[in-house]
Amino acid sequence: HLRLLQELKGKPTETKSGQQVRLYANIGRPSDVTAVLANDAEGIGLFRSEFLYLESEDYPTEEFQFEAYKEVAQKMGDRLVVIRTLDIGADKQVGYFNLEHEDNPALGYRAIRICLTRPEIFKVQLRALLRASVYGNIAIMLPMITSVQEVRDAKKILGEVKNELRGEHVDFNEHIQVGIMIETPASVIMADELAAEVDFFSIGTNDLTQYTLACDRQNPNLGRFADPHSPAVLRMIRMATEAAHRHDIWCGICGELGADLELTDTFLEIGLDELSVSPTSVLPLRNAIRNH
Ligand code: PEP
Ligand code: MG
Repeated sequence: HLRLLQELKGKPTETKSGQQVRLYANIGRPSDVTAVLANDAEGIGLFRSEFLYLESEDYPTEEFQFEAYKEVAQKMGDRLVVIRTLDIGADKQVGYFNLEHEDNPALGYRAIRICLTRPEIFKVQLRALLRASVYGNIAIMLPMITSVQEVRDAKKILGEVKNELRGEHVDFNEHIQVGIMIETPASVIMADELAAEVDFFSIGTNDLTQYTLACDRQNPNLGRFADPHSPAVLRMIRMATEAAHRHDIWCGICGELGADLELTDTFLEIGLDELSVSPTSVLPLRNAIRNH
C-alpha cells in the first residue's frame, strides 16, 4: 500500500472525470517543509505562524520572522505558501502579551482581534511577510474573521505597511494574495460581502465546527454532539464555497476535516478548489481523489 502511494508522487490530483483539486499541506514550523516536499504537496495551505510567538521569550522581531517566512518560501519555489497571521489568544498563552485571564477564551480576545487593537505588533509581522514575498509565492491569511469591517481594517494596516516599505525602497510582491479563514458562522453568513474584499477563502473546520455546534473543541466529553459531519457544518462549507465562486475567488479547507476520506466525495461535489491537510495525509487523499 505504501509503495502504491509513493507511485502517486508527481501525478496530478484529478478525478477520473478530470475535476482538479489543489492538494496542499499544513505546517507549524519551517522544518516541516521537508515532509511537505517528501509527500509531494502542491503548496502550503496553512502555515500556522504561532510557533514564532509561542517559542519566543519576547515579541519576535521582524528579522526573525522574515528569516522563517523566507526559508519556507524559498524551499517551496513557485508553489503557493499561505501564511496565517498571528492566531494566539487566551487559550494559547504567551506571557509577554500580558493577556488577561478569560472564562471563555475561545470567545475572547484572540487572533485578528489582538492584531487590530495592537497594530504595532501586527505591522511587524506584515512587514516580515511582505519582505519575504519576493523570495517565493507567499499569500497572507487572516484568522477568526467575523465581519467585513475587520477585513477592511486589516487591509488598511497592510496598505500602510506597503507604503512604508515603498518609502524605504524595499521590494515586495505588489500582487500578494490576501485571504481569510472561514471559521466563524458570521463569516459564512457574510461570505458574499467578504468574498468581494479578498482573494481567497480557506475554511477552518476545527473552529467552524466548534462555533457552529457550540461545542468546545478542547472538551473530550462531547462525543457525537461535536460531529463535524453534521449537516449544519457541511451546509456552512457549501455556502462559503458557493459565495466564493459567485465572486470568482477560490475556496479551500485547511481544517482537519479536509483529510476525512469519508467526505472527499462531498467536497468534490461541493466544488472545493483546494484541500490542505497534514503532510502524511496528502498521498492518501490524492489516491481517493484520483479514484473518484
Ligand atoms: C481551524 O480552525 O480549522 C484551523 C485550521 O485553525 P486552527 O486549528 O489553528 O485553529
Ligand atoms: Mg482556527
